[in-house]
Formats: sequence, C-alpha cells, structure tokens
Amino acid sequence: MSIKFQVLGAPGHDNALFVRVETGQTVHRLLFDCGEQCVSGLPVAEVQAIDHLCFSHLHMDHVAGFDALFRVIFNRPTRPVQVWGPPETSRILHHRFQGFLWNLYADQPGSWYVTDIHADHRASFRFAANEAFALAHPAGVEPFADRLIETATFTLHALHLDHRAPSMAYILREKPRLNVDPLKLAKSGLQPGPWLQMIKETRADEAPTVTIGDRVVERRALREQLLVESPGESIAYLTDFLLDEPAQERLLPILKSCTTLVCESQYREADLALALRNHHVTAAQAARLAVRADVGQLLLFHLSQRYHREEWPALLAEARAIFPNTQFPSHWDLGDGR
Ligand SMILES: [Zn+2]
Ligand SMILES: [Zn+2]
Repeated sequence: MSIKFQVLGAPGHDNALFVRVETGQTVHRLLFDCGEQCVSGLPVAEVQAIDHLCFSHLHMDHVAGFDALFRVIFNRPTRPVQVWGPPETSRILHHRFQGFLWNLYADQPGSWYVTDIHADHRASFRFAANEAFALAHPAGVEPFADRLIETATFTLHALHLDHRAPSMAYILREKPRLNVDPLKLAKSGLQPGPWLQMIKETRADEAPTVTIGDRVVERRALREQLLVESPGESIAYLTDFLLDEPAQERLLPILKSCTTLVCESQYREADLALALRNHHVTAAQAARLAVRADVGQLLLFHLSQRYHREEWPALLAEARAIFPNTQFPSHWDLGDGR
C-alpha cells in the first residue's frame, strides 16, 4: 500500500490536492477541492475514476473548476460519485448540476451522492442524471463524530475549522500494513509461494489452515510467526481557516505523526494579524503546527497573490526556519527558500 499525491494548479492561482491510495489490487482516488484549471492537470482517465470529491468549503476559488470535472463524469455508468463538504454543499452543488440545458437525458446513467457534514451528523442526498439532476433525494442521515469513510485499507477523518464559515480539514490514514518478515521466513524453512499473500489478508470465510507443499499449517500460527506490522502512510489537507490555540488543540490529536501535512500558506509572518483577521494561515503558523503535530513533511500551497512571486521563497524560508522539512510542490519551481 502507498499514498501518492499531487497538488494541482499553479502558485498564486487556485489549487487542489489529488490523492491515490494504492493497495496493489485496487486504487482509491480522492480529490480535495476543485479550483479553476485544477482538473486539467490530471489525465482524463484519472478524472474518470475519481471516487471521492472532498470540499473544504465552497468559496469560488475551491469550486471554480467543478464544471470541468462534472463534464467528464456527470454520467459515469460504473458507480456513483461521492461528494463531501460542509453544510450547504448539497444545496450549492444542486445549483451547479442544474446550470446547463438538459434534454435527451432520460437514458443517461450516472448518480451523485452529496453529503453535508454537520457538527454532529451528516446528511446525504442523491442526484440522478436521468432526472436532469432536478431532484435532491434524501439518502440518509447518520451520526458524525470525526470519521467519514472507513474501507479495508484507509480511513478518512474530517474536522470543522473556522473560516467565518465552516471549512473542513481532512485526514486520510492507511491502515497498518502487514508484511512478511524475510528473515523470519528464511528461518522457518517454509517454501515461499502464493500462501504468503493469503496469510496477509484476513477474510471472514478463510480456512483455519494453509497447505504449503505437503504440510498443513495453522493460519494463525503462521501469522504470529512471520508477519510484522508497520504503520501506513497518511496525508492531511488543511486550508482556509483560523489557526488559533483552540483550533490547534482540536487538530493535534488527529494530525499526530501524519506523514504529510498539506497546508495553506496565504500570508507571511509580518501579516499575522491580517491572517488571523481574515481567518487564514501564515506559512510560519503552518510550520509551528507541523512541529507540534510531529508530522513527517509539510507541503505549503494556496499562496496569495498579495505578494510578488519573488517573495514566495522568503515565505518558504520563514516556515523552514521553524520546520526544516517544508516544501512547495516541486513542479512549482519556486526555488528552495534557502
Ligand atoms: Zn475561503
Ligand atoms: Zn481559498
């Protein structure tokens, strides 16, 4: 398993984050926000296969590229598109779905599930291409604490932040991985074979024993003898929010030891008061959060055009002075701030 990710969009323009969670057998694709010209940075086949679209909030710079995405997958026949966001996401997207002339739609496949994440519950609505997206069908209300998605391979948690309107933070974590320890395998004298994959996967209908050559061995004993657990990778997406002490206290437990923190960096530290007033974050604030949460690396994005391009390396340097393993997306080519 591994997490691959890509910040979409140019520096000083709209951005988004595309994430692939790869298991070897399957790939889950998640897109966080959908600013203008972000989707055009992806191969069409990747856009067609997006499983989850997760909005932080629906300010224009985070949703302006939605039409380009919708055009590619509005009638995807294979499976519905799942959309997540703060309260009002379903109302706003319903307008977006209907912002076209629809005729000859009766035979169109494709449905969308849009979920509004409230403080203590989540409410989903289904929209169908063969109805010209005219109706918002209630599709369930469930309690919500902090977990949105749980699959066999990863979890997605969400948290409401304050942007003078709710802005969702998202944290995706792979589940711990089970691997065969090669030294232990060599010591066991057992012949490697397809059975190694079988003992890594837990299935409800599995047999209690495994046949290896002419030997029949208990599956549980093999697992205890040969498997080692290693933590999965993780990535957090934080943008457009007030980073005061209460926000840090809420964020720290779910960010703890995250592999990669992708965080907005709208302001330089000299403009901290402005950042706090506008409910945005300075690069140095993001770095202090990275230190406290003990993350692996910090990736800064969503830069403000209030600064000249020449100032962006200095903004990066302010963060690096606090948390050295801080980068801009490498394809931005903005220098390394040193
Ligand atoms: Zn915003
Ligand atoms: Zn924004």
